[in-house]
Amino acid sequence: MKTAKFGGSSLADAAQFRRVRSIVERDPSRSVIVVSAPGKRFKEDHKITDLLYLCSAHLQYGVACDPVFGMVTERYCAIRDELGLSVDLESEFKQLRKKMDDGISQAELVSRGEYFSARLMADYLGYEFVDAADWLRFTLDGAVDRDASYEALARLATGRRVVIPGFYGVMPDGRIRLMQRGGSDITGALAAAALDAEAYENWTDVSGILMADPRIVEEARSISYITYSELRELSYIGAQVLHESSVFPVREKNIPLNIRNTNDPEDPGTVIRESFENEEDKANRITGIAGRTGFSVVTVAKSGMSGTSDAFRRVLGYFSKYNVPVAYTTGGIDCYSCVVESKVLDPYKYAILAELQREMEPDKIHVSEHLAVLAVVGRRMAFRSGSSARIFGALAERNVNIRMISQGPEELNIIIGVEEKDYREAVRALYSCCQ
Ligand code: ASP
Repeated sequence: MKTAKFGGSSLADAAQFRRVRSIVERDPSRSVIVVSAPGKRFKEDHKITDLLYLCSAHLQYGVACDPVFGMVTERYCAIRDELGLSVDLESEFKQLRKKMDDGISQAELVSRGEYFSARLMADYLGYEFVDAADWLRFTLDGAVDRDASYEALARLATGRRVVIPGFYGVMPDGRIRLMQRGGSDITGALAAAALDAEAYENWTDVSGILMADPRIVEEARSISYITYSELRELSYIGAQVLHESSVFPVREKNIPLNIRNTNDPEDPGTVIRESFENEEDKANRITGIAGRTGFSVVTVAKSGMSGTSDAFRRVLGYFSKYNVPVAYTTGGIDCYSCVVESKVLDPYKYAILAELQREMEPDKIHVSEHLAVLAVVGRRMAFRSGSSARIFGALAERNVNIRMISQGPEELNIIIGVEEKDYREAVRALYSCCQ
């Protein structure tokens, strides 16, 4: 049994619903379907979830919300009518509208985006509708109560073909609670874990995780196989991939996660697992590249500092005091460099520098700004000579000056700092090493 989650762009209109049905029908093991609310049909269009948030704001400020609410109801009715379904949306919308007048919580109103999407999809596929409110439970502190939720879903869905709305669940008192934006990914992962699915398919509008940012490398190919640790390295530095809380439930149960493209269903997409054995030979040495601009490097130098046992801890301590996470560190003898995101550092920069100066009395403190940090990630780089030579050779060929290098002994990633102006060229150079 597989759990397949379809994102908003896969449900934007009736044509997308048809694509989803043909994907589901192609593989009978796709028996648990999790859906988002309909997303944008074209660039200037609105996501249903955004419209519902807007409705809620209108209600809150006492502004008539019917024009916006009408946009929502029309979208669902158009999908239903075009697909020839018979779900009685009108009476549900009427009840909802009344609840809105009587005082509905924002969470409940916004959750209706996924709810109606799932109602229509269940009818269209001939599957049963299982409401997230009937199994996905939160604890009082807002965390997912996994034991209770898994048990409830196993009871409701084992051996059945069901469609489940993503993005929400219920608090212990029965009130609806939303997840973070994009939370249907998490619902899908929880459903897969609850039912011990053989795979969790996440259907979206790209063919998996790309090896590099397509805004910089137009021809970037997708990654076939990636481990969770590599994924973490890439997303830490900026790759736009799944949120960590959405991979956690399936990772924990060693369920493979497969990112697929609804608009190109033949493409196998990206498979993510803890480790790969058989596929290993086909894997590239470099799995992917990610990076971001907007970093500063604070370097502290003091003669004799490396001979003391607590200097490094003290340097880091000034950042932690202001809750400024240090992304990477590098160093030399008697000198430590801390790589920090500039927008996080800036509000506390002078306070940190002043304290460092006063209390550590270093010989030199220096801040370099406008740096970009790139991570070259690949499990197959480790213990294989020549990876760095290729990477740095490619950068040199394109005249990219390297300002910082960091590589741990695990060699899952090589971190490279360059000037912001060289960032795009550096990504292209590194991509050329991927093949
Ligand atoms: N519809 C919600 C959002 O737009 C949740 C989701 O799509 O996953 O964030």
